[in-house]
Amino acid sequence: MHNDYLAHHDITHWSVSIAGMNKSNVLVLAGHDPSGGAGLQADIEAIAAQGAHAATVATLLTRQDTHDVSAVQPVADDFFCACVDTLLADMSFAAIKTGAISSSAQIERIAQLTQARPDLPLVVDPVLVAAGGGRLAADPVGQALRDRLFTRARVITPNAREARTLCPKATTLDQCGTQLAEAGCAVLITGGDENSPSVVNRLYVAGQTTREFEWARLPGVFHGSGCTLASAIAARLAQGDNLETAVETAQQYVAHTLAHAFAAGSGQAIPDRLYALRG
Ligand code: PLP
Repeated sequence: MHNDYLAHHDITHWSVSIAGMNKSNVLVLAGHDPSGGAGLQADIEAIAAQGAHAATVATLLTRQDTHDVSAVQPVADDFFCACVDTLLADMSFAAIKTGAISSSAQIERIAQLTQARPDLPLVVDPVLVAAGGGRLAADPVGQALRDRLFTRARVITPNAREARTLCPKATTLDQCGTQLAEAGCAVLITGGDENSPSVVNRLYVAGQTTREFEWARLPGVFHGSGCTLASAIAARLAQGDNLETAVETAQQYVAHTLAHAFAAGSGQAIPDRLYALRG
């Protein structure tokens, strides 16, 4: 069968492309959403669309449809750590992206990893609640993210609600951005979950003027836009973009995915991260 196959295909061309075209690997540590809207599937599609390769370790599984999350099943910490170790022994990575995380032990393993490889850009999406309002992380996770991962991140990408949850004493969103940036990371607070007429995302970097990015607010509610954005940023950083370029390019990409969003179920629309493949 192998010989038949060789006889009917120009294998020479294939060998050349395997040797000559490597992709940047992004290590993704996030949760699974069976509806395919958010979580690991969103990450894989967004990273692939940016020309990089996603290697994924599941932190948690969810029971979920396009409306909301109804249950969360953590992946056992020792299994999670073993999966990370197995990948690290085999593959080289150019960036790390984290999404929903189920325990402080998982955060600790990621913190160790980033300590050992401070050169790798780390993008932290501090996922605490689903777009439908269901909780994805227990209380200690938010605090552990702040204490252990934000200090090591190149950028964190909370939505407005997550930023307020992470900074309970702040009275404005600007205060949240400034406080979170004190960890030493850039902070991109997204405004898709606000009631403003347009969507305003704000980038806070300690010591720099806040940058605002304004986007048309499209009708409807989307599922997985935050995961898409954070993963696209990680893929851009993995391929050598500086932070500002990565943040801008990723937002433009997300705007396109939302403009092409589709109804996979009866709930929130799913951004089409592979819109470029449409005929
Ligand atoms: N990660 C998982 C596993 C999820 O189920 C969700 C939302 O349902 C998210 C992340 C966050 O999704 P979004 O990109 O809409 O913020």
